[in-house]
Amino acid sequence: MATTTCMKCGGHAFELTLLTPLGENRKLTLVQCAGCGTPVGALDPMIGPQIEALRREVAAIEERLNRIARALQE
Ligand SMILES: [Zn+2]
Repeated sequence: MATTTCMKCGGHAFELTLLTPLGENRKLTLVQCAGCGTPVGALDPMIGPQIEALRREVAAIEERLNRIARALQE
């Protein structure tokens, strides 16, 4: 796999930092060059809770399937 390189300084080290965009009250997680601070990408913090909600939904469906399977065996 190719090494991620900073477009500005050519560095290969990156770090996560929190940034609050103007007019927003939630923070974005930003990936920036550890050498010069040039941002290379942002992670949306909303994705985490959404995945968590989906996980719970799948668990609930599995539970219902188990109940149906047990009912069929009786
Ligand atoms: Zn850099």
